[in-house]
Amino acid sequence: MRIILIGPPGAGKGTQCQRLVEHLQIPHLSTGEMLRAAVKHKTPEGVLAERFMNEGQLVPDSIIVGMVTKRLESPDCRTGCLLDGFPRTRPQAETLDDLLERRAMSVDGVIELAVPRDELVRRMLARKRADDDPEIFSRRIASFEAQTTPLLDYYSRQGKLACIDGLGSADAIFARVKQAVRRFKWSSQGN
Ligand code: AMP
Repeated sequence: MRIILIGPPGAGKGTQCQRLVEHLQIPHLSTGEMLRAAVKHKTPEGVLAERFMNEGQLVPDSIIVGMVTKRLESPDCRTGCLLDGFPRTRPQAETLDDLLERRAMSVDGVIELAVPRDELVRRMLARKRADDDPEIFSRRIASFEAQTTPLLDYYSRQGKLACIDGLGSADAIFARVKQAVRRFKWSSQGN
């Protein structure tokens, strides 16, 4: 199965992704993690991406698309994967659809983890990361909302979007995630 998990910064995507890849036994493709590793190892992509990441801006598609394409072509991604952090914009979603179509593959379903903005801020204040400066965090949420709304619309029109409530315990949220995945399986079997 090829699944995309979308959620604003601080929505608890990391926890749900971890559980979902274990549950489905598929690789986890997180562009944020790939980029942080590239920055750490000072690869050419990392050197280019760092400035955008530090400013809470999206890294140019030329960098992201190359990284994701390479990863999607690895043998462990043949039967499926969980995409986290990509696509983030409608053009990225269209690029992904093209990429998959050329390989006779497709996205099975998209899960949106919905969390209200005040709850995101509360959670951000309770954790620590280099890019968790409150001003940068607000910019990341605003950028997420602006870029992601057309993306959600794109998948909703394809009948692939499951919007789930991101409030509650990790267990309760994961039960909703699994329910969404069962629906994707059911529709991809043509029922
Ligand atoms: P994340 O861990 O997904 O929040 O990503 C951390 C940072 O990496 C983001 O704030 C962006 O600067 C960059 N990034 C991750 N994924 C993408 C993407 N699909 N497109 C552009 N920039 C991205």
